[in-house]
Amino acid sequence: MALRTRLTLWYTGVLAVTLLAFGVALYTFVSYMTIRNVEHNLEQTAGEILSEIRVIPFLSMGIIDLPELSDFKSLGVYLQTNRIDGAIDRSDNLPEQFRLPFDPSSGFERARSEESWYELYTFNKDAVMLIYHTRMVYQNRLIGVLQVGTFVTDQMKFLGHLRLVLLSMSVFALLLAASLGYYLARKALRPIDLVRSAADQIGKGEDLAKRISYKGPDDELGRLTATLNNMLSRLEAAYNELEDAYRKQRRFVSDASHELRTPLTTIRGNIELLEKMWLERERQGSDPELSLEAMKDIASEAQRMSRLVGDLLALARADAGHRIEKEPVEMREVLDEVTRKAEFLPRKVDFKAGDLSAADGAIVLGNRDYLQQVLFILIENAFKYTDEGLVEVDALKLDGQVGVRIRDTGIGMEPEEVPQIFERFYRADTSRGVTSGTGLGLSIAKWIIDEHGGSIEVMSQKHRGSTFVIWFPTIRPDREEP
Ligand code: ADP
Repeated sequence: MALRTRLTLWYTGVLAVTLLAFGVALYTFVSYMTIRNVEHNLEQTAGEILSEIRVIPFLSMGIIDLPELSDFKSLGVYLQTNRIDGAIDRSDNLPEQFRLPFDPSSGFERARSEESWYELYTFNKDAVMLIYHTRMVYQNRLIGVLQVGTFVTDQMKFLGHLRLVLLSMSVFALLLAASLGYYLARKALRPIDLVRSAADQIGKGEDLAKRISYKGPDDELGRLTATLNNMLSRLEAAYNELEDAYRKQRRFVSDASHELRTPLTTIRGNIELLEKMWLERERQGSDPELSLEAMKDIASEAQRMSRLVGDLLALARADAGHRIEKEPVEMREVLDEVTRKAEFLPRKVDFKAGDLSAADGAIVLGNRDYLQQVLFILIENAFKYTDEGLVEVDALKLDGQVGVRIRDTGIGMEPEEVPQIFERFYRADTSRGVTSGTGLGLSIAKWIIDEHGGSIEVMSQKHRGSTFVIWFPTIRPDREEP
């Protein structure tokens, strides 16, 4: 059974019980008050009559002398005495057809055990009379039964109407409450329906951006809706993040396979060429220069491939959550070593190790090898993308951080290219095919910088040159934490 039907039945049931209790209480009270008045009148009249009964001693029984019953005419009260010897006397205000009914055998029998009792009697279907019976006693002997009656037709009609009104009002109230209750339950439970249908749609994978709309007070349902919406937002964010990561991963794999295929094709082509030349040589001798060139090609492509595989491995390790082991490192020492070795890197331009004194005494919690690697990536790039001018490295210091600045006067970059250079396999169009490279160097550099809690800034102008600054947090020599 639906919740709203159950709720409706419940409160209709509770209302029915309440109405029943109220109706019964009201009816009992009103009927008691109405009839009690009449009864009081009858009992009073009976008392007066009884007190006026005289008995004239005669033989053993005496003669009963009743008061003049017709005195009570004006009261609308009718009297009748039924004597045990069979004599009946009645007030003359009672028409012949309305004789008070009395069955001597059962009446006297009852009078022996009960002092008084009431009976309702209906004349001609609609005239209702309430009759009070009380025994008449003389010297402890029952001598008859006095009946005092009055018409209560109006009171009975009134009570009948009251019953009808109470009943019909209760039925009407119940019907109204049931339909109103059903409507209210529907209205109150509607947000739950919305929640269910939204959850259904999300379950079917239709739309994660969908939210449950609830325009109501901040009650239990409002809070439930807010909680669910919150949960949906987080679910959506997590899903998007996952989707994004998955898309990047797919692109990475496809880029990596593509990058690996190029040198492999060159190697295979050169090997086929060599094979042909060997066969040729067997027949008529061939050009040794050509085979030397082919072998150089193979060697350089193999070198490129192993560099690429090395880079891929580093990134795969980073993706797998590999953590770099760290220890306090003197930044000045790292810089001295890197700038010394940089002199010997292949380059077309001048190289200058500028003012490194800002790194004096700066200690970074890091890994010496990885710190050197990130600096070499940036310096090699500066050499690679600079045809004339100068590449300069110097050190900076700022608020508990040490910076290394690598400046070149090379080809520079367009502003819109800068945010993309840290993406895997990204190479600016001007670099593709002109300089050798995998497009992975800066991705690796970024990972290493992140692992050290550092940051990187890039300033570049097309045809004017680029400046890269990497910042690392320093620690005090006596403390391990940055
Ligand atoms: P790679 O150098 O192997 O292409 P990187 O990830 O190191 O890959 O660099 C990505 C791209 O960023 C390069 O292809 C180049 O277009 C651009 N870039 C990097 N460093 C510089 C620089 N110093 N000057 C100009 N462009 C640069």
